[in-house]
Amino acid sequence: MRVDVVTIFPDYLAPLGLSLIGRAREAGLLDLRVHDLRDWTHDRHRTVDDTPYGGGAGMVMRPEPWGEALDALTPAPGGGAGPRLVVPTPAGRRFDQAMAHELAAEPWLLFACGRYEGIDARVVEEAAGSGRVSRVDEVSLGDYVLNGGEVAVLAVVEAVARLLPGVVGNAESLVEESHAASRHGLLEHPVYTKPAAWRGREVPPVLLSGDHGAVARWRRDEALRRTAARRPDLVARLDPAALDRRDLAV
Ligand code: SAM
Repeated sequence: MRVDVVTIFPDYLAPLGLSLIGRAREAGLLDLRVHDLRDWTHDRHRTVDDTPYGGGAGMVMRPEPWGEALDALTPAPGGGAGPRLVVPTPAGRRFDQAMAHELAAEPWLLFACGRYEGIDARVVEEAAGSGRVSRVDEVSLGDYVLNGGEVAVLAVVEAVARLLPGVVGNAESLVEESHAASRHGLLEHPVYTKPAAWRGREVPPVLLSGDHGAVARWRRDEALRRTAARRPDLVARLDPAALDRRDLAV
C-alpha cells in the first residue's frame, strides 16, 4: 500500500518509522511518503494560512498550496487510478475498525493534515470533483478537537497498516481483538501472563487448567460482561444470531 501525507509538520510523522509500522516500511509492505505543504508555497515566508472571511478567531489554511500539492501528488484525470483522499477533521465521519478495514483494502491513501481553524472548504470540494482522487473522506478521530491532523493520521495509519498482510506477525491476534468483525462487536476478554500470583492477585484458575473448552467459555463470558459494563451501546447493536444459549445466561 502507498500512503502519502501532506503536513506543515513532517517531523510529527516520525513515529511511523518505529516498531511494526517501521518494519513494514522496511519490508516494502507500506510505501509511506511524507510531504511538507510549504514546498508548494511561493512567497518568502512560505505562507500557508490567512485570516477567515467573515471574521472570527484564528487562521484558515489557504487553498492554493493545497491545490498545488494535491495536483502534484495525484495523476491527471484519465492518467490512472488516483488515491483515496482522507482529510482529518472533527466534523468528519467517525473513524472505527470497519473504516480501518475499508481503508486497508485501498492501494493508495493520501492524507491532508489541517492546522489552525482547518483548510479552506473549497479544497475538499475541488478535490472531490477533480477526477484525480478515487474518493474523498472527511474523517474524525472522535468528538474532541486536536491541534492538527497529524495525530489523527498517526492513529489511522497505524490502525490500517496493522491490517495489511504480513505487518502483524501472528494474524490470529487480529481476529481475536476488540472491535474485530469476527467478534460481532464484543470487546476482548482481559488478558494475563506470568507470574500466576502477583501482589496478592491470582490469575483466574481456569486459565491454568489446560481445559481449552473451559478457557474459551470463560473468555467469551468475560468479553460479554466487559462489553455490557463498559460499552452498553455495543451490546445494544449485537446481532442476536451471533449469541449462543450460554451467552444469554451471562
Ligand atoms: N475549527 C475546526 C472545527 O471546529 O471543526 C477545528 C480545527 S482543529 C484546531 C485543526 C485541525 O486539527 C483540523 O483541521 C483537523 O485536521 C485536525 N483535527 C482536530 N480534531 C480532530 C479530530 N477529532 N479528528 C480528526 N482531525 C482533527
